[in-house]
Amino acid sequence: MIQTIQLFGLPFVNATPSTWYTHIKTLLHNNEKAFLVTANPELVLRSLRDPAYNRILRQATFITPDGIGVTAASKRMGEPLTATLPGIETARELLRTADTLQKRVFLLGGRPEVMKSLIKQLAIRFPDIQFVGTFHGFGKEAEAATALKAAQADLILVALGAPKQEQWIASVYDQVDHGLFIGVGGAFDVWSGHSKRAPKLFRTLKLEWLYRISSHPRGFEKLKDLLLFVLLVFRKKSHL
Ligand code: UDP
Repeated sequence: MIQTIQLFGLPFVNATPSTWYTHIKTLLHNNEKAFLVTANPELVLRSLRDPAYNRILRQATFITPDGIGVTAASKRMGEPLTATLPGIETARELLRTADTLQKRVFLLGGRPEVMKSLIKQLAIRFPDIQFVGTFHGFGKEAEAATALKAAQADLILVALGAPKQEQWIASVYDQVDHGLFIGVGGAFDVWSGHSKRAPKLFRTLKLEWLYRISSHPRGFEKLKDLLLFVLLVFRKKSHL
C-alpha cells in the first residue's frame, strides 16, 4: 500500500524510491490501469491557478514529488516527504520492466527529429519492448488518440510538457481498458541525446533544476514561477 501526504491540495506519494519502483513494476506486471503524474513546483503552481487542470490532476492514480522543490517545501510545511521521485527515473524503471516483460509501449511527444532518434535508441536499449505507437508531439495528438484505442498498449509515455500531457492523458484515459499512463516532460529529449541531463556536479549538489532552468527557452518564466512557489511555501507553511 502506497502512503500519501496531502500538500497543496494534492495527495503526494510518500515512499522510498525502492518501494515506489517495486510498486509501479507490480502495476505493469499486473496489467493495471493507472495515471501517474510527476509534479514539480511549476505543475503545483499551475494546479493552484487553474481549476480545470486541478480537476485533471485529481483524476491521477498517483502524484509523485518530482524534484527537490516539492520535497523541500514539504519539510518547510512540517509534512516531510520521504524522498524525491524524479519522473524521468520512474519512466526509465517502467521501460526496463516493460522490456523484461515484453510489454506493449506507446510513445507520444517531442519534436519529429527527437522521436525519430528516440525510437532507434530505445529499440537498441530495450529490444524486447513492442512499440505499438510512436507519434511526435507537434500536430499528431489527435492521430495518436485514435491509434491508442486500437493499440492495446500496456505503457503510454507522453512527452508534451505540462499541462498538455496531462490534458491529453485525461482525454483518452476513459477510452481504453488498461495501460499505465505517465507524462514525462522533457525525457524524450534527454533519452534521444537532444538535451543533456544536468552534469554530475549539479546533480550531486541537487541543483539539476537550476541547470534545467538556465538552459530552457522559457527559463525566465520558470524562474519566476519557482520564486513564486518559494514565497507561497514560506507564507502558507502547513496550511496548504
Ligand atoms: N512538446 C511537444 N509538443 C508541444 C509542446 C512540447 O511534443 O506542443 C515536447 C517538447 O518537444 C519537449 C517536451 O514536450 O520534448 C517538454 O516540453 P517543454 O520543455 O516545453 O515542457 P516543460 O519542460 O516545461 O514541461
